[in-house]
Amino acid sequence: MPVIVTIPTALRRFANNQATVEVVGGTISEVLSNLTTQHTELRPHLYSSDGRLRNFVRVYVNDEDIRLQGDNTPVKQGDEIAIVPSIAGGIDPVIKSRTKLTNEEIKRYSRHLILPEVGVEGQERIKAAKVLLIGSGGLGSPLALYLTAAGVGTIGMVEFDTVDFSNLQRQIIHFTGDVGKPKVKSAGEKMKAINPNLNFIPHEIKITSENALDLIKDYDLVIDGTDNFPTRYLVNDACVMLKKPNVYGSIFRFEGMASVFAPHLGGPCYRCWYPEPPPPGLVPSCAEGGVLGVICGIIGNIQANEAIKLIIGKGKPLMGRLLRFDAMDMSFREYKIPKDPNCPLCGKTPTITKLIDYLEFCGIGRGEAGGSSGDSIVDQKEEGLGPDDISVETLKKMRDTKQDFVLVDVRNPDEFEISVIEGSVKLPLPELPQRFRELPKDKELIVHCKMGGRSARAVNFLKQQGYTKVKNVAGGINAWAQRIDPNIPQY
Ligand SMILES: [Zn+2]
Repeated sequence: MPVIVTIPTALRRFANNQATVEVVGGTISEVLSNLTTQHTELRPHLYSSDGRLRNFVRVYVNDEDIRLQGDNTPVKQGDEIAIVPSIAGGIDPVIKSRTKLTNEEIKRYSRHLILPEVGVEGQERIKAAKVLLIGSGGLGSPLALYLTAAGVGTIGMVEFDTVDFSNLQRQIIHFTGDVGKPKVKSAGEKMKAINPNLNFIPHEIKITSENALDLIKDYDLVIDGTDNFPTRYLVNDACVMLKKPNVYGSIFRFEGMASVFAPHLGGPCYRCWYPEPPPPGLVPSCAEGGVLGVICGIIGNIQANEAIKLIIGKGKPLMGRLLRFDAMDMSFREYKIPKDPNCPLCGKTPTITKLIDYLEFCGIGRGEAGGSSGDSIVDQKEEGLGPDDISVETLKKMRDTKQDFVLVDVRNPDEFEISVIEGSVKLPLPELPQRFRELPKDKELIVHCKMGGRSARAVNFLKQQGYTKVKNVAGGINAWAQRIDPNIPQY
């Protein structure tokens, strides 16, 4: 009883390049067995070594998935059987155009070209692609290096920061000799050295509500390597408005997460997942909480991988799925992120139709932004002093003139081991709600932390408890080490 088996494009070369093959059999099991006897090269693509149908191969009989009935599903003459391996599926390539490869490029990318899923066609899409990286910090570093090596034709980089000595532990695109250099310059030099074919476009500016749409509009996809909520929401909103896929990644301590946001391709956006940011201070930044350097490489490369899949339109993108990595357990877990029909941005009746003030939206004011640790659109140095702030110079003067005040250090005990301003009272922020009564109400309190973020929250808390003479040291102990006492290490 002959039936017609449709062979997927990716497997046709193992079946004499035929789109359909006539095969005899009374059940799916018999049909596939006879098919792979006729075309032996097909066998390893359909069956694993233990003789079971591979789990990424789906078999349909007249459009019905036989997964539930199994291999013994009966078939009759004239039935149409389709083999659909998931690897040949995927989405439409984000990059529709192709740019011809030179002979030098054919040699350079030969390990890509012999992958059937990439091939010359995929590599030409990669060459035609214009990718915008937001940030060249922990995530941006591996992203920029691998995407450059992979042959992405145009890479833009938005980054206004300069290389800091404390970046080198994880931002591997920057070398020791680059400290003090603009990050876009340092990154651009390495990228051009890896691949001179690259068209590198540095954007040495902060991304803001005013320039975001203009910055992003000429690119095909955006990769978010930022470290703060205002930029994350800004990038998300701008990408949704411009219909650009947004490859998301985030890292903290020993954990990382990645996903792909693209409502125009049927997936959710960042706001479907988190409509609003957490209040400032609830989620500490990497500058406050630390991050294991290698996590940046792991998550950044997952983002690079997703970007390439989107460019060539192969595989199953991390759309509607959140991948969470835990380095301590060495585990990857996946969570669903459903598209929210009521999402204020990508839902049926959106209420956000233009870019907003993201600092205000995230509840961030002066002195709360956490310094210049990466790709922040908030730069405390330029924000100046808030009404509750004093500078480290003022603090020095107060000490030198022996004014009567209590210096309170609200950092964690691990940080006291690194550096300390002599004479300070150590009271870690998490213990403040239980222990604040230890602090005198009649004396002036000067509160500091590492960079001024946590101490600003401590000042707010103390004022709520009725303390009136309380000030925050802008820039924290790091500013003290930088500008007052160079013997204290900065971290
Ligand atoms: Zn949404």
